Amino acid sequence: MIVMKFGGSSVANAERIKHVASIIKAYQDKRPAVVLSAMGDTTDHLLEAADKAVLGEVDVAGVAKLHEDTAAELGIKIETIEALLTELKQLLTGISMLKEISKRSRDYLVSFGERMSVRMMAAYLESQGIPARFYDAWDIGIVSDSNYMSAELLDEVWENIPAHLNDYKNGTDNHIPIVTGFIAKDVKGNITTLGRGGSDLTATMIGAAMRAEEVQTWKDVDGILTTDPRVVKEAKPVPEVTYEEAQELAMFGAQVLHPRSMLPVRKTGTPVRVKNSYNITSPGSIIVEKHSGKVPPVCAITTVKHITLIDIVSSRMLGAAGFLAHIFNNFLKWNISIDVIATSEVSVSLTVNTKADLTGLISDLEQASQVSVRKDKAIVTIICDAAHSSAILASGFDALAEEGINVQMISQGASKVNISMIVNDDEADKTVQILHNAYFS
Ligand code: ADP
Ligand code: ASP
Ligand code: MG
Repeated sequence: MIVMKFGGSSVANAERIKHVASIIKAYQDKRPAVVLSAMGDTTDHLLEAADKAVLGEVDVAGVAKLHEDTAAELGIKIETIEALLTELKQLLTGISMLKEISKRSRDYLVSFGERMSVRMMAAYLESQGIPARFYDAWDIGIVSDSNYMSAELLDEVWENIPAHLNDYKNGTDNHIPIVTGFIAKDVKGNITTLGRGGSDLTATMIGAAMRAEEVQTWKDVDGILTTDPRVVKEAKPVPEVTYEEAQELAMFGAQVLHPRSMLPVRKTGTPVRVKNSYNITSPGSIIVEKHSGKVPPVCAITTVKHITLIDIVSSRMLGAAGFLAHIFNNFLKWNISIDVIATSEVSVSLTVNTKADLTGLISDLEQASQVSVRKDKAIVTIICDAAHSSAILASGFDALAEEGINVQMISQGASKVNISMIVNDDEADKTVQILHNAYFS
């Protein structure tokens, strides 16, 4: 058995759905379970519809038209989608009357995208004589906690999923399961979502729980690339990546994989292949436990923009034990999470999300230290083999110095596969271009 996941861009319209159906058909002998995202930008459009509803306007026209036109073009009649569109309209009407929306209702609202796309695909496959059945994630036991918009899967999914899909795996049932990515239900029965891009996690969870041969995530790029192709158009596919590298890459901003998607497959050693549905002959990238050959010194470069850099200096604490404990306790108290950190004996520099409200934290920290806050920064991360960090830093920094880029902080992660640096937001893309040129050209 394999798991095949198709992202929004792979199922954006009728033509793409037909194409994906042909890819699924080509792998039919491997007993694929299929995970789908919402069609195209439907998730974004649903979130926009939520914002409009809060202002009193109900607008589902775009989302409805896309799904109705696609069904018509595919030559399928699907009452189940019409029923969902009616429910969606009722929900938006409710929100427009209340003029407010909770995280829980937002998750319920965005769930319609994935629920419609699996119905569409299953109906189309059936119309082509390929037995298929759609499942909403909870139909196969995908349950989560109640942390709406970024829910964690519960441990019981490891048993629930095989209980529902073993008949398919062992051939008793022949219907290809077409499962919604991204969504789940909590124990109270409320719909949750796993965070943006969460379909990757649904796919790796199913693959790991089913002990699948491999998980394939089909995208619109030739695999994991050396950097974001929208920043460096020469970015090229990385043929082999470890789980650890892939995880760091995702956590440090590469949109290509959901940050938590490596967790289940790391436990079982299930390989993950990242493929291009627009270019099926390209080999893509494979994510595995260990490199098969020589470890490449630099794997990829990523960025997270719009972050805030905080410098905390305390001469009073010079040599005093507990300086760091004091700082971390304050972050804990104000529930602000730290992304990158660099320390010396009396000073600490760290980065936080720009959206965090820092007022209380800063005033507490200022009791014992001088604090400076600098906004509009970016984290640029080199995912690399830290055994070569000196050489990597030397060549990278030479190139940056030549172009006049001023790096304001640098930190090497404990995982030994990342080096992060902080630069001004408006220099982030240029920094990535210079580093990419230094390492990959
Ligand atoms: P899907 O919705 O199909 O899962 P995403 O849009 O979430 O796909 O992720 C693929 C996109 O991620 C690519 O189109 C590309 O623009 C962007 N991207 C950013 N960094 C990378 C990277 N290092 N490798 C590949 N793609 C990347
Ligand atoms: N449709 C969701 C999103 O756009 C989940 C996904 O694509 O993985 O974030
Ligand atoms: Mg994605």
